[in-house]
Amino acid sequence: MTSPLQTHPAATQALLQKLGPQKVLTDEPTCFAASFDNMRLSFMPEAVVRPQVEEDIGITLKLANEHRVPVTVRGRGTGNTGASAPIHGGWVIHLDHWNEIIIDPISSMATVQPGAITARINELAAPHGLFFPPDPSSLKYCSIGGNIATNAGGLRAAKYGVVRDYVYALEGFLPTGEKVRWAAPLRKFVSGINLRDLWIGSEGTLGVITKAVLKLVNKPAARRTFLLACATDEIALEAAAELMGQRVNPAVFEFLDTQTVEAAEKRRGQRVFSTEELHGNSKTHAILLVEVDGHPATLAEDAVKVRAWIKKFAVAYRETDIEADAEALWDIRRTCSQAMYALGNAKLNEDIVVPFRNYVALIKFTREIRDRTGLATPTFGHAADGNFHVHIMYDRDNPQHCKAAEQAIHEIMQKVVDLGGAITGEHGIGIAKSPFLTLQHTPAEINAMRAVKHALDPNNILAPGQIFDPLNVWEYRPVKVTLPWDKH
Ligand SMILES: Cc1cc2nc3c(=O)[nH]c(=O)nc-3n(C[C@H](O)[C@H](O)[C@H](O)COP(=O)(O)OP(=O)(O)OC[C@H]3O[C@@H](n4cnc5c(N)ncnc54)[C@H](O)[C@@H]3O)c2cc1C
Repeated sequence: MTSPLQTHPAATQALLQKLGPQKVLTDEPTCFAASFDNMRLSFMPEAVVRPQVEEDIGITLKLANEHRVPVTVRGRGTGNTGASAPIHGGWVIHLDHWNEIIIDPISSMATVQPGAITARINELAAPHGLFFPPDPSSLKYCSIGGNIATNAGGLRAAKYGVVRDYVYALEGFLPTGEKVRWAAPLRKFVSGINLRDLWIGSEGTLGVITKAVLKLVNKPAARRTFLLACATDEIALEAAAELMGQRVNPAVFEFLDTQTVEAAEKRRGQRVFSTEELHGNSKTHAILLVEVDGHPATLAEDAVKVRAWIKKFAVAYRETDIEADAEALWDIRRTCSQAMYALGNAKLNEDIVVPFRNYVALIKFTREIRDRTGLATPTFGHAADGNFHVHIMYDRDNPQHCKAAEQAIHEIMQKVVDLGGAITGEHGIGIAKSPFLTLQHTPAEINAMRAVKHALDPNNILAPGQIFDPLNVWEYRPVKVTLPWDKH
């Protein structure tokens, strides 16, 4: 059973006195809005701190240490793991209004505040012929601070990598309230132990990021998009491994299994490929979306290789290098996430990773789970790096469904580890995956992580309970709210 949260009225009063009521908000609507992320499990904080100057953050953290108040940092709350939910109450530092972005076209760098929306960086970089490649599907809603703290990935990670590959320097506060700078706005920096990279992906447990210097790269001159249908999931996944072996380096390489395609086609009200294109076959096919980008000359070479590969594996395909037409090819991929709600009113979205050689074993296992439990297991994701979103669709009001979904997730996580994979490739651990940490890591590894946490945060102030303390999320009911990204 869940126990009531401990409160800290004297400490909150002291914080109010130091920072004032404009920066320390205790009203219920503000606290409720900061109490959950996209996982939608709500844990009410006692106050939301909206710092105006850096000093406010130092003051908040020092006071929190003095009074042992838990503090959670919040970006824009799009996280899928409950990592920005204040599970032990206390204070939430909310930085969404810290959103300045400065582009330096000479050094190809962007200096950003943590609340800046990721898509906005690209809007400002584009006129200089530059771009910031990491592109989580949530990029119109999430913040760069959240992206750094989760080491977010995206559709283009296949070719361009993840957020970690684009961070030159970070500034911020240690959990104890001291200001620090990790590295500098320089292309090379190897002075001291690299704590910048320790902060990246640490899910708000090791410090508060207040500024980042990011690497921008030249925008590719052209792109070509291919959408193809394969007769089965297995053929599509074997095809994926083969393309990667041909030294084509797709910027985007997405796999949609037949369960996903069926749901998305229902939502769109039309098939992706017509029965005619599929040579009279009315069965649902698996889909692959491939995009190559770069200099037109290299692109032409890649296109020749991709077409030969398509001939071998696909039943039908389309391709384009026209921007507007590419969007039509992308439509099925953009629809699939929401389309799944036709298969159940709740979903578990597991961002697991498996090695190339085990793609087929994974998809077979998801179907085995579906057949055994009766719960749909639509799976799609990034075929170039094995980071697949395995979903379990269920009815949240049906206790038998919940039990089956909980059991299924445990089995999937175990299977992923057995296949040599990772329990998370981009969302992180948070509370959602905390029960599975010991599947992935040995006690020695977890002890080393805890030792780092303790060294930087001796009073366990920042995001206590996240990552390390297994939480039975099934004891909590998700809040019923409509979030901005739900419609897309
Ligand atoms: C529709 C949808 C699609 C998504 N697609 C992807 C995807 O393709 N790839 C992907 O990687 N993720 C994806 N996500 C998950 C989510 O968008 C990312 O995890 C994102 O990086 C979170 O950013 P945020 O600003 O919302 O952070 P929050 O959810 O607010 O916080 C996430 C974590 O970052 C920490 N944090 C935030 N700001 C700071 C800071 N300034 N200093 C220290 N710690 C901080 C928080 O404490 C928390 O641990 C998706 C989510 C949704 C809803």
